[in-house]
Amino acid sequence: MKALSKREAKEGIWMVEAPTPTVGPNDLLIRVQHSAICGTDVHIYKWDDWAQKTIPVPMVTGHEYMGVVAGMGSEVHGFQIGERVSGEGHITCGHCRNCRAGKRHLCRNTKGVGVNRPGSFAEYVVIPAFNAFKIPDEVPDEIASIFDPLGNAVHTALSFDLVGEDVLITGAGPIGVMAAAIARHVGARNVVVTDINDYRLELAAKMGATRTVNVAQEDLWAAAKGLGMTEGFDVGLEMSGSGAAFAQMVSVMNHGGKIALLGIPSGRVDIDWNDVIFKMLTIKGIYGREMFETWYKMAALVQSGLDLSPVITHRYGIDDFQEGFDAMLSGHSGKVVLDW
Ligand code: NAD
Ligand code: ZN
Repeated sequence: MKALSKREAKEGIWMVEAPTPTVGPNDLLIRVQHSAICGTDVHIYKWDDWAQKTIPVPMVTGHEYMGVVAGMGSEVHGFQIGERVSGEGHITCGHCRNCRAGKRHLCRNTKGVGVNRPGSFAEYVVIPAFNAFKIPDEVPDEIASIFDPLGNAVHTALSFDLVGEDVLITGAGPIGVMAAAIARHVGARNVVVTDINDYRLELAAKMGATRTVNVAQEDLWAAAKGLGMTEGFDVGLEMSGSGAAFAQMVSVMNHGGKIALLGIPSGRVDIDWNDVIFKMLTIKGIYGREMFETWYKMAALVQSGLDLSPVITHRYGIDDFQEGFDAMLSGHSGKVVLDW
């Protein structure tokens, strides 16, 4: 089969002929139709320190996708050939304390599709049937292909009650702008999105942000006051991985504010801990998606009218994958989807 492989330990990704993955008794074979490029795939493409430590070479990468069931192992029940599915990319162990308690997202032994095992930049991907999620009819194929990062946005945004609240989202990457759309959809009052990239702030505005702020040029608190806010933000969703953004968020939270941290910093981050203590802030780390509550919420949000279509800014046939990676590398893109 055709696949995009991290074939060599250097910058780039290559189209190769790879063996179709073997289907174990509990596995689904999925014929991939759309596969989106994640920030993680860009780290792997660039071959940065994290990728060098994490990715065995060669490796078929990619983990955001939708496709149809093309085969299944002898022990699999409840799936039909041809059914549309996406897949949870975190494969959990099933035997640790959290897995046994049904809290799979807290598994200590998680393995990643397209990171530790062959992924979805391929004509076929194999995952445990347990990890597959059936796509309801109301969800378009392309939107289903970004359920993995949408799940990051949903898991983070729905960590705290947003109804009537003033929400700050730092980072207008694909996940940040989807979180803005979710926050509006579920009834937040003000949704302020910050970034230092105007292309992305425009995307945030299209996705429903009430106010966007380029923090390299404009004062965040002055902008918030312009919206009538006087006390600070109630909920913060950190989606940039920038230490400066997190420190700024802590400084503009109201007393009793709640922060969910999704962005992954490249090193240690210095914030004013006195603010955390004296404002009695709650800070929650987020990894992946809740299995499978987040997936049901995602489907329901789309079924109830959440419009995510502006976030997909680029589409390419798989033979033009390099253009897709170039679009991601440019910083002038939302989600980039590759069609197989
Ligand atoms: P992205 O890198 O595309 O977007 C991050 C955005 O933050 C960029 O647009 C960048 O310009 C902006 N930014 C940089 N400095 C800033 C600052 N000082 N203030 C405000 N914005 C600033 O990322 P993405 O794909 O949307 O993902 C968001 C974050 O979530 C990333 O850090 C990613 O690594 C992380 N992530 C975490 C998980 C998890 O499970 N915890 C999963 C997926 C992604
Ligand atoms: Zn486990």
